[in-house]
Amino acid sequence: AKLAERGSVARYNRGVSEEIRGRVNMLHNLRRAFSANELFLVFQPQISLVSGRCVGAEALLRWRTADGTMIPPDRFIPLAERSGLIVAMGEWVMRRACEEAARMAQRGHGTVRMAINVSVIQFRDPHFLGRLRAAIEDSGVSPQQIELEITESVAMGEGSRMIELFGRIKAMGLDIAIDDFGTGFSSLSHLQRMNVDRLKIDRAFINDIGGLGKGGEIAGLVCGLGGRLGIELIAEGIEQIEQADRLQLMGCQLGQGYHFARPMPADDWRVWLDAHAQG
Ligand code: C2E
Ligand code: CA
Ligand code: CA
Ligand code: CA
Repeated sequence: AKLAERGSVARYNRGVSEEIRGRVNMLHNLRRAFSANELFLVFQPQISLVSGRCVGAEALLRWRTADGTMIPPDRFIPLAERSGLIVAMGEWVMRRACEEAARMAQRGHGTVRMAINVSVIQFRDPHFLGRLRAAIEDSGVSPQQIELEITESVAMGEGSRMIELFGRIKAMGLDIAIDDFGTGFSSLSHLQRMNVDRLKIDRAFINDIGGLGKGGEIAGLVCGLGGRLGIELIAEGIEQIEQADRLQLMGCQLGQGYHFARPMPADDWRVWLDAHAQG
């Protein structure tokens, strides 16, 4: 019995060290990929549920390895966060997204917003605001065109420091959206003091909206909350027209999802935008 036990401990240890080795290896590859420009942004349109026009886009990070394999962000962003690499990577995302937004403005789409995901690790970095300001200035984009997406757990979890940081970001002229809304535990007074522009209802609650008026209770509650507080609402992960219709009836103004368009590389996005821009 003792021997068998020892054997399983050894197996366990081997399993753990293999996992660690795998992670270290992937981090090494990720660093290399980042400096070799294997990372790029795709853009997913954000649509007015009322007019059907495109009012913005969300920038989403992609990693295509040299052999053409696509690694989804859910697999490498946590690693980038644990290692701190997300600070440099997130700065690159901000710069690249601001450049694309500046280009949109040059092509006559200056009112179409660009939404950028920001990690909690970036927020905790003391140089975050400086990096953000530099990205905006160097690209020449108007700050009014830029929106930062911050997940609900981050926005609510970091206390008064977050409220102060949000105030500074707002003072620079940017918009703030609370991402994955409904999955955390927002305190209502907190939410009001944060002066956010948009609540982005998490995809899980959009999924719940079925065909014959079924489900969607949480989406409905969030829409009611947004309406009361005067905060605009955007639904993510809209895949069916029925969901878009129900959300509009609930008072949700904006939507994003495969029903409208998938995330696109920059070239496709530029063509798509010319065809779907706000009139
Ligand atoms: P998220 O911010 O909640 O982004 C929405 C995700 O839903 C994206 O996945 C998008 O491609 C996907 N999506 C959009 N419409 C639909 C739909 O109709 N149906 C379904 N099933 N999915 C839809 P993606 O691009 O794989 O990104 C996953 C997550 O990775 C993001 O979730 C975000 O948390 C993170 N992420 C992506 N890019 C960045 C980035 O530049 N910086 C940071 N910090 N995080 C990022
Ligand atoms: Ca997001
Ligand atoms: Ca989201
Ligand atoms: Ca989500």
